[in-house]
Amino acid sequence: MPCDLIAALDIGGTKIAGALVDGNGTPVVRARRATPAREDGATVMREVAAVLREMTATEDWARVAAVGIGSAGPVDASVGTVSPVNIPGWRDFPLVAGVREITGELPVTLVGDGVAMTAAEHWQGAARGRTGALCMVVSTGVGGGLVLGGRVHPGPTGNAGHIGHISVDLDGDPCPCGSRGCVERIASGPNIARRALDGGWRPGPDGDTTAEAVAVAARAGDPVAQGSFARAAQALAAGIAATAALVEIEIAVVGGGVAGAGEVLFAPLRRALRSYATLSYVQRLEVVPAQMGTDAGLVGAAAVAAQERGLDRFRAPRPEGRGLLRESR
Ligand SMILES: [Zn+2]
Repeated sequence: MPCDLIAALDIGGTKIAGALVDGNGTPVVRARRATPAREDGATVMREVAAVLREMTATEDWARVAAVGIGSAGPVDASVGTVSPVNIPGWRDFPLVAGVREITGELPVTLVGDGVAMTAAEHWQGAARGRTGALCMVVSTGVGGGLVLGGRVHPGPTGNAGHIGHISVDLDGDPCPCGSRGCVERIASGPNIARRALDGGWRPGPDGDTTAEAVAVAARAGDPVAQGSFARAAQALAAGIAATAALVEIEIAVVGGGVAGAGEVLFAPLRRALRSYATLSYVQRLEVVPAQMGTDAGLVGAAAVAAQERGLDRFRAPRPEGRGLLRESR
């Protein structure tokens, strides 16, 4: 039996997705449950177990080489626990131990969802083949991850590259994380919407006050809506420029719902980056939209697990015209 699949879990505040991912990054088996985010920790874990059991019940399970988990954070990969902000029942919750009860002897790798998304973009998306990259998710929150030296860099606890909580405004508004002026406090979708409303922007007849509605207004020329996106772009640019100065990334990949605003975000982002990324070695930094879709979390969790286990066929960008390497159990 070839040992050529990775079991991946993508755990967020709304859904728990599972897949057996092959060496091409294709999910060959899928399972999915809603996250009972308001319930106690054991109830949430029961849904994770149900997703896993759907996968262990398939014939393909015998081909699984490792398990990769990308979870809403913060996570602590050093001890196998998670404390997702949007799942209050899980605080220092022993997720890896719970998964191992079902998956047995297989090696398990846990990372934050920003790191997982980064691994997906590096394997098959916009950061493919890059040596140094910052990938970010800008939506309800702002997360991210790093590629350094051609490898995803999860850090000891699986949270490295969490650009959302870098302060870019020293005396700025308090952030729920306890700091001030964080990138997330300025650039997340809810903060884009809040700032537009504070500035006098009003929603249309449908009453939609999301960042998406602000983006529509900005595209139609509303100066307050445009200003709110420009401010978000400025915060993102400052965070990206700081990261580039520190570790010499060559590309920043921006995904998530807010990135769906397209040029409403990316045009002011490129402009702001020219003001902040000024040193010679960061001036050529590119900023591009993410390419991976809704499977990024699953594909990325598989990619990180493969990287950590040294399974090369999952790690490198797929060379053209070369078949899958196989290994036997
Ligand atoms: Zn913060």
